[in-house]
Amino acid sequence: MADLNFDLIVIGSGPGGYIGAIRAAQLGLKVAVIEKDKTLGGVCLNVGCIPSKALLESSEHLSQAQHEFSDHGIKVSKVELDLAQMLNRKEKIVKSLTDGIKYLFNKNKITSFEGLGSLKSATDVEVKSSSGETQVLKAKNIMLATGSVPIELPFAKFDGKKIITSTEALSLKEVPKKMLVIGGGAIGLELGSVWQRLGAQVTVIEATSKLCGPMDAQLSKNLQKLLAKQGIEFLLETKVSDVKVSGNQVSVKFEDADKKSVELSGDICLVAVGRKAFSNGLGLENAGVEKDERGRIKVDAHLRTNIPNIYAIGDVIAGPMLAHKAEEEGVAVAETIVNGHGHVNYEAVPSVVYTWPEFASVGKSEEELKAAGTAYKAGSFPFTANGRAKALGSTDGQVKILADAKTDRILGVHIVGPRASDMIAEAVIAMEFGASAEDIARSFHAHPTLSEAMREAALAVDKRAREM
Ligand code: FAD
Repeated sequence: MADLNFDLIVIGSGPGGYIGAIRAAQLGLKVAVIEKDKTLGGVCLNVGCIPSKALLESSEHLSQAQHEFSDHGIKVSKVELDLAQMLNRKEKIVKSLTDGIKYLFNKNKITSFEGLGSLKSATDVEVKSSSGETQVLKAKNIMLATGSVPIELPFAKFDGKKIITSTEALSLKEVPKKMLVIGGGAIGLELGSVWQRLGAQVTVIEATSKLCGPMDAQLSKNLQKLLAKQGIEFLLETKVSDVKVSGNQVSVKFEDADKKSVELSGDICLVAVGRKAFSNGLGLENAGVEKDERGRIKVDAHLRTNIPNIYAIGDVIAGPMLAHKAEEEGVAVAETIVNGHGHVNYEAVPSVVYTWPEFASVGKSEEELKAAGTAYKAGSFPFTANGRAKALGSTDGQVKILADAKTDRILGVHIVGPRASDMIAEAVIAMEFGASAEDIARSFHAHPTLSEAMREAALAVDKRAREM
């Protein structure tokens, strides 16, 4: 009979849970992971970050072949979409990564259990398999990493066909003629971009006055213009009040600027208005674990719940719902259990929207600095003046660096541009090390690279950019 006593039981195998489990095993703990789904990896690997990026990449290739190859002197006679193959490729990528977690669990001697995990007490965790069998595991420590699910609008119940979540939007078997997207955040813009590039007419309807939530307002406007040029239609400050399916069509109702009721219809409505913490069936009440008013598990600065040996991380607690945030928290919990301390720098969590061009940020926006009364200097540099961007044929966007007016310490970096997702890493490291704009300006940046735009923006903070 297997020993069912563990130093740490992790419930949920998303990026927070599996990375935390591996770190704990590396530190010598005996670890079990419970996952209710058939595959490991959580939302991120199965129906989030990875499949969406696979489709963004494929659809970007199609768009380049259709609109950009000729500029490079490449003639292609007939460019056709093979959607089934595109989806197949995405599935293969997902499978190779989720299988990779199995391999990592074996390598690190982590035991994984398939089934719904629920707390019976502060030390006992029941696993209920899909066939209804149960077993009880015992743990010295528990890490809750059960993630999040899409928010449903009360008047737009998900039916998986006409009113869909991001999960279905990653697997549509045909390209809709007209797609309505409610929500202009990262998920709405990324999946809207995918289907627009594949041929759908896409309208994004956003309740607030700007896209991408709290990200820098000026760059958000720039991105909106660039996406509109590609063909996505935007309705901002537009609150949808009803969504109805009739036959093959779905219609959304809202008030226009003159308070007149307007109805728009399409083949599919993607609701991407955010996600909410998921802890259904977790048995929190059996151990006395508290939640906040938004249903998120409450934790202290050490990610500990009100029950000292139970921790929670990732999307199920407060903070940005991002895979890398969940990962860092998973590692911090493992290190706290073993060493007594962990580390997550919430001031330097990057955010990325993987449209083309991409939008990436870290640190404070101008709006946040103004609201806090912080004196700052700003330096910007456009990709039109960057040699590598010209060679790429992708000169839209800019880098903006915000630095403290007195100390020159970098407070925020915001990029709309090609491969902004990779470029932001330099800014994250600079902020981790408490660098000044001058530190970036004085560092070598290989020529010709997109990263030179970062250096020029740093020089621009001191009004020394060499823009043509
Ligand atoms: P999750 O990944 O949600 O994993 C939780 C796991 O717990 C799930 O597998 C679930 O089945 C399991 N579980 C829940 N309850 C139980 C239970 N009681 N017993 C057993 N198992 C349970 N983030 C980024 O950083 N970059 C991106 O590019 C990005 N793109 C995204 C694109 C889309 C379309 C979506 C939907 C999300 C995207 N995200 C992205 C967000 C990212 O996926 C999440 O922030 C991340 O997955 C959160 O990780 P987690 O470990 O907290 O939880």
